[in-house]
Amino acid sequence: MTLIGHMLDAALPRRCASCGTPLARQETQWCSPCAFTWIRHAAPPLQRFGGRVDWAFGWSWLSLGGAEERQLVHALKYAGDPQLGIDLGRAMAREWSRLGSARQETKGCWSVVTIPLHRKRQRSRGYNQSELLAKGWHTVTGMAMHPLLIRKHSGRSLTGFGRSQRVSNLDARFHWGCPPDEPMDTTGGLIIMDDVVTTGSTLEHAHHALRQHWQGPIGFVTLADAAA
Ligand SMILES: [Zn+2]
Repeated sequence: MTLIGHMLDAALPRRCASCGTPLARQETQWCSPCAFTWIRHAAPPLQRFGGRVDWAFGWSWLSLGGAEERQLVHALKYAGDPQLGIDLGRAMAREWSRLGSARQETKGCWSVVTIPLHRKRQRSRGYNQSELLAKGWHTVTGMAMHPLLIRKHSGRSLTGFGRSQRVSNLDARFHWGCPPDEPMDTTGGLIIMDDVVTTGSTLEHAHHALRQHWQGPIGFVTLADAAA
C-alpha cells in the first residue's frame, strides 16, 4: 500500500462489507451482528438439478434473501479486496466443519476444485473469487486445492439457450486441465467451490467436465444460493 493509502486507511473508518457500519477494532471484514444474522441457506441443495447430476453432496452457506447478504457478495466480486474472499472461505469452512454431515460426506482425502474465470474478467478484477474462497477453505479444512478445470470459450453466454440445448452444450464451458504427469493425491473426492449458485448451470458444467476424467465422488460448496 502507498503512503497515501495508509493515511486514508487511518483516517477513514473501516466498514462492514455486508451492512456498511463502521467496524470495531477486533472486526476485520464484517461486523459481528451481520455474521450472526446472515440468513443461512436451508433449502435442499440438489433439488434444482432434478437428479440429472450425480452429486455426492451440495452445500450453500448463505441465502441471498436480504440486502446484507447481497451486499456481501457484491463486495466479494467488486470491492477489490482479495482478503475478503479468503476470510469468507475460512468462515464458511468453520461453520461447515461443525455440521455432523460434513464429516460423513468427506471422509478420506478430499480436494477443492475452483471455477476458472474468463481471462478478461480475471484481469480486470485482479482475482478469482472462487479461488479466494477455496484458499480460505483450505486453511481451515486442510483440503488440497486442485486447478483441474480450464475455461474453454470466453464471452458466449448460454443463458439464452433452452434446456435441451444447454444440456447438449454441457462440455462447452470447461475442460479437464490436470497435467497427465501430475499425481492426483485425492483419494476421497472433489469439491467444486463457487461464490453463488443461481441456475446451477455453472456447477453442472464443471461437474460434467470433471466426470469425464474422475470416477470418484463430486460435491459442491458455494458461499451463497441465489434462490430465495
Ligand atoms: Zn455488518
